[in-house]
Amino acid sequence: MEGEKQKRISIVVPVYNEGAHIRNSMEYVGNICDKAGILYELVLIDDGSKDNSWEEISRMAKEDERVTAVRLSRNFGKEPALCAGLDAARGDAVIVMDADLQHPPEKIPEMVRLWEEGAEVVEGVKSSRGKEKKSYRFCAKVFYGMINRATGIDFDNASDFKLLDRKVIEAMKQMPERMTFFRGMSAWVGFERKSFEFEVAERVDGTSKWSLKRLITLAVTAVTSYTSAPLHCITFLGIIMFFGAIVLGIQTLYMKFAGYAQDGFTTVILLLLFIGSMIMISLGIIGIYLMKIYHEMKGRPRYLTSRVIRQKEEE
Ligand code: UDP
Ligand code: MG
Repeated sequence: MEGEKQKRISIVVPVYNEGAHIRNSMEYVGNICDKAGILYELVLIDDGSKDNSWEEISRMAKEDERVTAVRLSRNFGKEPALCAGLDAARGDAVIVMDADLQHPPEKIPEMVRLWEEGAEVVEGVKSSRGKEKKSYRFCAKVFYGMINRATGIDFDNASDFKLLDRKVIEAMKQMPERMTFFRGMSAWVGFERKSFEFEVAERVDGTSKWSLKRLITLAVTAVTSYTSAPLHCITFLGIIMFFGAIVLGIQTLYMKFAGYAQDGFTTVILLLLFIGSMIMISLGIIGIYLMKIYHEMKGRPRYLTSRVIRQKEEE
């Protein structure tokens, strides 16, 4: 490193109601970086927390020039918070991790080493899912199963624990979509990739901030952002239904002319139910894509910043 300027890593952490432990957690992360001789800045994004998170991180930013605190104007969700973090980061590479230390900071030196060896995206792969509730595990399984199949991108055991080179960040900033899915975007861009395994630790404090509704919303965003397969499914179903209709139509006509017309009533009811639900589902799917177009058309910003605290403006 002698002679040339040491490269700096930005550690981006979205924070939502983590006030109780955020200071300790971030000190822990800082210590690990210091010990490994990594030059770093911490970018903490307060995603409209309702507890004392903002007080804590703004104080940290005032005390330590390596800490940047950004407050969003309300709770936008983890994805927009991550975008805000990537926009505020100034390092030569960015590490994205959760505030609750479920992404073990002990892995940071290894990530940086892989990056220095030439990887442009260093991805954390979960070797186990830690202790999670059964219902959560089930949802996660369904969620990733769906996305893997639909998008052709392997999301299994992938995580948001990543290191991204400056080049990759700039590439991702060119992606204009309003509704983002970080994991999908960072997979889509490509680049030189390496991965490492990590064990998901237990949350240091509090509970997971993901409700079932949020998880479903994320699943829908993920699928609709990376594939239009559901729309093709509708067409496919329609074609199958059409063939069914021809067969049944012929049978119905035959019955009519043969004089047994009364009997087919069950079929009529079943068909009505089946076709009715198919149409509803299809309309729903089309509606989801329409909703996406509508949201993207509005072109609203991904997030709004209400305050930024950082000691040095540089570059
Ligand atoms: N988070 C956020 N905004 C939200 C929900 C969560 O910024 O609306 C942050 C949270 O503070 C944490 C990370 O996203 O740093 C992961 O959240 P959590 O631990 O609740 O999710 P899980 O680990 O269960 O996936
Ligand atoms: Mg967590």
